[in-house]
Amino acid sequence: MTVERIRAWQPGEGARRATEAFRGAFGSEPDGVWSAPGRVNLIGEHTDYNGGLCLPIALPHRTYVALGITDDRTVRLVSAQEGGGAWAMPVAEVGPGAVDGWPGYAAGVAWAMAQAGATGAGSAGVPIGGFDAAVDSCVPYGAGLSSSAALECAVAVALDDVFDIGLAGSDHGRALLAQACIRAENEVAGAATGGMDQTAALRARDGHALLYDTRDGSVRHLPFDLGAHGLALLVIDTRAPHRLVDGQYARRRDTCNAAAAHLGVPTLREVDADALDDALAALDGELVTPAGATASPDVLRARTRHVVTEIARVEQFVELLAAGRVAEVGPLMDASHVSLRDDYEVSCPELDVAVEAARAAGALGARMTGGGFGGSAIALVRTTAVDDVAAAVAAAFDEHGFEAPATLVADAAGAAGRTV
Ligand code: ADP
Ligand code: MG
Repeated sequence: MTVERIRAWQPGEGARRATEAFRGAFGSEPDGVWSAPGRVNLIGEHTDYNGGLCLPIALPHRTYVALGITDDRTVRLVSAQEGGGAWAMPVAEVGPGAVDGWPGYAAGVAWAMAQAGATGAGSAGVPIGGFDAAVDSCVPYGAGLSSSAALECAVAVALDDVFDIGLAGSDHGRALLAQACIRAENEVAGAATGGMDQTAALRARDGHALLYDTRDGSVRHLPFDLGAHGLALLVIDTRAPHRLVDGQYARRRDTCNAAAAHLGVPTLREVDADALDDALAALDGELVTPAGATASPDVLRARTRHVVTEIARVEQFVELLAAGRVAEVGPLMDASHVSLRDDYEVSCPELDVAVEAARAAGALGARMTGGGFGGSAIALVRTTAVDDVAAAVAAAFDEHGFEAPATLVADAAGAAGRTV
């Protein structure tokens, strides 16, 4: 069975496409083209809003933004992925509640960067003037591979450059840009996000996995060269329709916050894996969450168990990576999937079938990745088995009557920056 492979564009192709879109929409030349990657998380799922650890890599698949400054104080946007012609709004009007749909992810970044404190330089925000921007991307939408952060972060490095803000030149500055992108997504686009995606897109390093500690915002770069071990990371976009994602994400966050509050800690990160049983025993009654929902002890325990064990799995994964033993991480991936499926309850039939079929076809480990309820799964496979595993997953999808999946092979790529 042949399986669709989602191709990553070469930088030249991405730049050409974005530039042509810019010329077509605005009849002028852009000041440049910037791009930012999608990401895939190796392990550490639903930990980023619990003060925990996650371990994403940046994908070779990127979103390209051709952008030029204008002098009329207006933001104009087009995207090859969205029809409907150019969207426009005066810069001063962009903000929470003002922008519907996809432009919120792009224009929202301009708003967030202009907010007081956004640049870390005292109380003043930075002046962001008018600009035109054209977007084109090979990051699949809604596949759990973070096309949203790729768009935000490409716009962020573009604005940083053309308005001479100078944040993209340092890791500290990039952390500030990531914060602005998170605000754009949360407050302007109105989508909940924990920060892993923007951090990966802005702070990852080519050939490395990014250990991101969301408690203090620090990162560590771990060499990640599967090819040297005869291995590859197969990403399977299940193309499952997202079901109830937004409400479920907010509910998981809310339940985790309730559990942490009951245990007297700021976040579940502070629950030591060695003391997990005591913590679970202490979650012995029904709780009212910060959002006013009720959570049963069983649910509180299951969610807590996932978060605490998942953070411990990230630590074990990192130890294996640092010791050059990447071929041994498979069982950690398998355990992560079981925990997400049974304790956190964010999997779905397509993700479970993808993971089981990949494993049955010889994958060393497999798990859902991203928020869940659809999106993508990853499988660690021998380089020689990539096509066989992909075909086995596609055959299993066919048997179950699911839409055909798409795949890509993920090498750890570089962070957002200027392309031309
Ligand atoms: P994911 O980030 O996993 O791909 P999300 O639902 O978080 O999924 O983000 C997808 C949304 O981001 C799209 O529906 C669209 O609004 C916006 N978006 C992402 N990429 C683009 C793009 N190239 N052009 C326009 N909008 C985009
Ligand atoms: Mg997203």
